[in-house]
Parts: sequence; C-alpha cells; structure tokens
Amino acid sequence: MTDSFVVTVAGAEQLSPNLRRVTLTGPSLEGWESTGKADEFVHVHIPDAEPAEGWEDDHDIARHYTIRRWDPTHQRLDIDIVTHGHGRGASWARDCQVGDVVAVSDAHGYYEPPAGSTRRLLIADATGLPAVARILEEASPEETFDVLIELISMDDAIALPSPATVNLEWRVSGNGRGPSALVSCLDRLETPEGDTYVWVACESAQSRKARVFIRENWTRHHTLYRIVGYWHVDAEEQMRKWEALTDAQRDRYMEIWDESRPDEVNWEELEPYLQELGL
Ligand SMILES: Cc1cc2nc3c(=O)[nH]c(=O)nc-3n(C[C@H](O)[C@H](O)[C@H](O)COP(=O)(O)OP(=O)(O)OC[C@H]3O[C@@H](n4cnc5c(N)ncnc54)[C@H](O)[C@@H]3O)c2cc1C
Repeated sequence: MTDSFVVTVAGAEQLSPNLRRVTLTGPSLEGWESTGKADEFVHVHIPDAEPAEGWEDDHDIARHYTIRRWDPTHQRLDIDIVTHGHGRGASWARDCQVGDVVAVSDAHGYYEPPAGSTRRLLIADATGLPAVARILEEASPEETFDVLIELISMDDAIALPSPATVNLEWRVSGNGRGPSALVSCLDRLETPEGDTYVWVACESAQSRKARVFIRENWTRHHTLYRIVGYWHVDAEEQMRKWEALTDAQRDRYMEIWDESRPDEVNWEELEPYLQELGL
C-alpha cells in the first residue's frame, strides 16, 4: 500500500452496543479506488496529523479496517469498528467528532471465490462482521452461504440482508471476553462440498488453528480457502516475542513470506516455522 488519502469524519453512529460506524469523506477520495473485493480494507491513520511516509505499517498510528461501503458518487467510506476496549482504534471510533481528520491508505482485499463456484462458508468474529455484511450484501442470488459469527453479545447480531441463500448462526464467545469457540465449531461441521469457498476472519491465534484444521481435515486446494488473522488477543505479548527473535530468525521469516506466492501457500511453510519459534 502506498497512497494516502486525507479525509474527515462525516458522521458516526452506533450500529449495536459494540459496533460503531464511522463515515469518512473528502475530495481526496476522488483518487481512491475500490478493489471490488468485498472484504477489502484500508489502513487508517488515527491521529489528526499529516501522515509521514511509511505510516501504513506503523501500528503506533495505523489500524486495519474493512470498507463496509464505498459510495463513489458522494465520496464516502463507511467503516464499522468494534469498540472492544482500550485500543487506539476502538477509542477513536468511540470519541471521533465530525470534521476530525484522519488518513486512509489505498485498498487491498482477500475474498476471491473461484469463478463458477456458488457455495461459501464464512466464519468470523465481531471484527469480521463488517466484511461478512458486505460479502452477503454484494452476493448473487445463485450463491449459498453458511455463516458462523462469534459475537460479544447477541445484541450485536445486526441484520445481514442478502439476495443469496444464507444459513446463519450467531454465537456469543471469544472476542477477547473468553475462549473462542470458532475452531471447535469447525470440528462439528460436515466437510464442505467440493468447490465450497471457505473464508475465515478472526483473532490471529484462532485463524491459525482454523487453517491447520481445514488443511488437515478438509484437504482443499489453496484457492478454495482464505484465512486471515484480524487481531491478536495478546498483542503486547506477541510483540515482545517478535522483538526477542534473533536477526537470523526474522530473516528466515521474511524469506518464507515470498510475495510472489499466494499467501495460503506461504502459510503452509510459515505455520510450522512459527510453531518452532514458539510463536
Ligand atoms: C484485513 C483486516 C480487516 C479488519 N477489519 C476490521 C473491521 O472492519 N472492524 C474492526 O473493528 N476491526 C477490524 N480489524 C481488526 C482491527 O484492525 C484490530 O482489532 C485492531 O487491533 C484494533 O486496533 P485497536 O487500536 O482498537 O487495538 P490495539 O491497539 O491493536 O490493541 C489494544 C489491545 O486490544 C486488544 N484487541 C485488539 N483488537 C481487539 C478486538 N477486536 N477485540 C478484543 N480485543 C482486541 C489487543 O489484544 C490489545 O491487547 C481488521 C483487521 C484486519 C487485518
């Protein structure tokens, strides 16, 4: 991601007790382009300062958020934010005022079902709910979705309109408030039919367990699943562990993560290496 677009807060509204929508707008968005992928996200530069080069990868100031809706006519971006606790992003979502200035990056997305397939399995915690909502909203009537979403509270079970056929299950667990049940839920599902596209977005450790489960039990080609870690339940501890690695260990990590390969192929090698490092 390279470009940055300075925008202002046009409004904020509470969608449910733990989900707040922030709408961003500004003439700079004339140059912002959607990828067309329904789980696309941007980095949001939180403080109201002009972003310096390289800010997108700086967790001190930037957070990833899904573009819930893009209105090119009025140049408005909606992002829906889980107000989970003490994070900079969550606090900003709670406190931001109309006119506050932030910057967003260009967009990137992962959701890419193979052409011709119509069955989908979506699994997410509260942070993946905005992407699920957009995926369902933009789906076609030919598609069938099985959807499992883990929430902080049943009061966060927002309406998810879709022209597709949707079998939806909500449950209250995980989300930093207790153990996640997403992986144990996978265990009780039937193996998805042949070309079902599986998309998972949730806490990072859970996403890695889900990937291992899916690879070991549902033997699928890497184009039939996309699993993304959205946040770390123990972010501070993870950072300490990362900083304690030797240069050689970090170099090996970088070597495995080969940008020319699909991410899920990189993960096949990365997961055992992370386990070896105790990460
Ligand atoms: C591709 C992508 C798309 C995403 N889309 C969205 C989105 O649309 N909406 C959304 O709300 N989030 C989304 N996220 C997740 C979001 O970026 C993280 O939750 C981020 O850490 C929030 O930043 P923060 O400043 O609030 O907390 P941080 O400063 O990152 O963390 C502070 C503390 O809060 C904990 N924490 C962080 N996130 C959560 C959480 N969700 N629940 C409980 N505890 C948490 C951390 O463990 C840490 O201890 C997305 C992430 C990715 C990678």
